[in-house]
Amino acid sequence: MSVLEAFDIYRFYHAGEEETLALRGVSIHVEAGEMVAVQGPSGSGKSTLLACLSGLDEPDGGYVTVLGERITRRPEAERAAVRARKIGIMLQSGNLFDHLSVEDNVRLQMLLAGRVNHLRLDELIDLVGLNHRRHARPAHISGGEAARAALAVALAAEPKVLLADEPTGEVDAETEKQILQLLDAYRKNGGAILVVTHSNAVAAYANRTLHLFDGRIVDHA
Ligand code: ADP
Repeated sequence: MSVLEAFDIYRFYHAGEEETLALRGVSIHVEAGEMVAVQGPSGSGKSTLLACLSGLDEPDGGYVTVLGERITRRPEAERAAVRARKIGIMLQSGNLFDHLSVEDNVRLQMLLAGRVNHLRLDELIDLVGLNHRRHARPAHISGGEAARAALAVALAAEPKVLLADEPTGEVDAETEKQILQLLDAYRKNGGAILVVTHSNAVAAYANRTLHLFDGRIVDHA
C-alpha cells in the first residue's frame, strides 16, 4: 500500500463562461521512504495538485488516500482531522501564525493532532537549528529561519506524508542544504515526501521526478 495515492484526479475552475482544466486525470503514488519531486511550468497545475492531495481542496473527479484512508469526498472537518494526524504541509507562505512564537507555532500543530510531546518539541526545534530563536515571532526572524520553522511545524505531529511547495524557494544555498538534509532524514525514517520545486538541487535529491504540463503528468517537460 502506498503512503500517498492519488487516482485519476480532475479539477476544473469556472470563471464566468471560461473553464480552466487545471488537472486532467493525474495519478500519483508515493511510498514510505520516498521523495517525489513535481516540476512543471507556471500554470501547469502544481498548486492545485498539492491542494487536492492535502485535502485543502476537493477534486472534481478521482480520489486521494493517505495510508489507505480516503481524504476526498468527506466533510471538511473530517478532512482536517486526517490532515492534522497524517499530513505535514509546508507551503510557500502562511505556514506560521504571526502572533505566536516559533515554539508556540510548533506546539499548536501538535495540539491540533491531539498530542503535545515536549521532548519532541525541543528535539524538533533543535533539529531545525532554531533553539536561539524559539521565542521569537515570525516577523522577527529571517526568511531562512522562517522556512526552517515552517518545516518544524510541518513535521510536528510526526506525519507519514510531507507535502511541500517550493520549500527552498526563498532561502540561500546554505539553508537549502540544511532543509534538504532534514528532508533526507525524514525520508530515511520512513516518511513519504512530495515536493513541488523549481530547484534542480531539490529535484536531484528526489528518488523520482514527475513532470506536470497542462494538468497532466507527461514523460518529460
Ligand atoms: P501552478 O501551481 O503550476 O502555477 P496552478 O495549480 O496554480 O498552477 O493553476 C493551474 C491552472 O488553474 C492555471 O491555468 C490557473 O490559472 C488556474 N487556476 C488556479 N486556481 C484558480 C482559481 N481559483 N480559479 C480559476 N482558475 C484557477
